[in-house]
Amino acid sequence: MRLVVLPLIGTVAAWRIAARRLLAQGVTDVVWQVGDAAPDLFAQADDRPLPPGPVFRLPKAAITEIEAALCHADPERFARGYAILQRLNAGTLRWGDRADPALRKLLEQAKTVRRSIHKMHAFVRFREVHGPGSGPGDKRAFMAWFEPDHPVTEAATPFFTRRFGDMDWAILTPTVTASFVDGTLRHTPTRPGTVMPDDATEGLWQTYYANIFNPARLMVKAMTSEMPQKYWKNLPEAALIPGLIRMAGDRAAAMQAADPTVASPRLLHRAKTMVAQSLPVVPTLGLAGLRAEAGHCTRCALHSAATQVVFGVGPDDAALMIVGEQPGDAEDLSGLPFTGPAGQLFDSAAQAAGLDRNAAYVTNAVKHFKYTVRGKRRIHQRPTTGEVTACRWWLTQERALIRPRLILALGATAVASLTGTGANLLTRRGTVETLPDGTPLFVTVHPAWILRLPDPAAQQVERARFERDLRQVQSMVQQMHSTVQN
Ligand code: URA
Repeated sequence: MRLVVLPLIGTVAAWRIAARRLLAQGVTDVVWQVGDAAPDLFAQADDRPLPPGPVFRLPKAAITEIEAALCHADPERFARGYAILQRLNAGTLRWGDRADPALRKLLEQAKTVRRSIHKMHAFVRFREVHGPGSGPGDKRAFMAWFEPDHPVTEAATPFFTRRFGDMDWAILTPTVTASFVDGTLRHTPTRPGTVMPDDATEGLWQTYYANIFNPARLMVKAMTSEMPQKYWKNLPEAALIPGLIRMAGDRAAAMQAADPTVASPRLLHRAKTMVAQSLPVVPTLGLAGLRAEAGHCTRCALHSAATQVVFGVGPDDAALMIVGEQPGDAEDLSGLPFTGPAGQLFDSAAQAAGLDRNAAYVTNAVKHFKYTVRGKRRIHQRPTTGEVTACRWWLTQERALIRPRLILALGATAVASLTGTGANLLTRRGTVETLPDGTPLFVTVHPAWILRLPDPAAQQVERARFERDLRQVQSMVQQMHSTVQN
């Protein structure tokens, strides 16, 4: 019997290395432990180096699922993963065979782990720390305490480096501490007796939560199951929930006139199918030819009422592509994207964030203005699924020509057109998703949504968040440039 003691930090990577080598050796009986857990009486410690054996290739999905399941709290997870590996290697198990109880269990545990990671992303709350050296000009530092259901800290925390890349922070859990200082993420065992300092940002969190709370979508049951009460003790906003629920009816009525930027369920469903079925695109025209061609577009009815097509603008080798929803009144007249009020908000936030819009390729999910006439005004109307689908052809061509290294999606329609669903935009905003062709997609809200918020305080909070998102995008673009130069 072979004993493998895995480190508390880097457990999954260590398991991967050990499992590969043990497999190459044909070792079948292994006892797996983490850290200094009590050794199994029947196991023999063995740290002799094992010579590498023949290469065994696993499907990518298998690696992803096995490694996710290794972050489950079940003590049997390492042994189960290794047994499955052995059977796949021997050809006695086919990956994906859900009739197999061990594989089914592993897949269920991987799913549980993903859920646990999602909970950590959603419920970590940072509190500002004022150390003895902190003063004007010092970088702000934040801490959070979190108790995950499963040992997911290492898997979950890279997300926060993308979201809060411009701050120093630490997330403490009972076992592992993740600290992000000067742009480097480190994991260390948590020191016993560590305490959280008093919270200076509690008020800010409460203001923010009160602003993003959507009374029209209130589902108390779903809310308490999505945000189990055990997490509430670390959530400053939890104290607000009962009051917000009581006021939800009135606020929902007030919101009905506000026309929020939320894609319809039908649009999302159709877009999802469309993305799943999409084929790789081979551009047949250059960018200038494509733009000229779009001037004659009759793929949907929107061309008939619009003044002109509003095609994308920007360098054809831009690293960043920015995708909005559709041109508005001003854009329809100027022929250029983001020149009206939403564009002005975008510009001022981009300038504050140091993001150079002129270096980006700026376009929309839909290229013609859709509106209804009220008196002398042309009022924006949200595009239908069919219109988004018809116009997606142009967006796909633009992507194939520009080949951006990063795409920034503004609002639910852009996100739906690119990913197949614009649902849960406020949960997804500030995160990076990967499109089927591997392009990273940064998700944020649409500037017009910020302009439509009725409460000036809420608008201010959302402007600041939008700016922070753009700063994050700017730093990603900068990193890409420095990677190219190195
Ligand atoms: N809103 C958009 O989504 N795009 C524009 O070009 C202008 C407003």
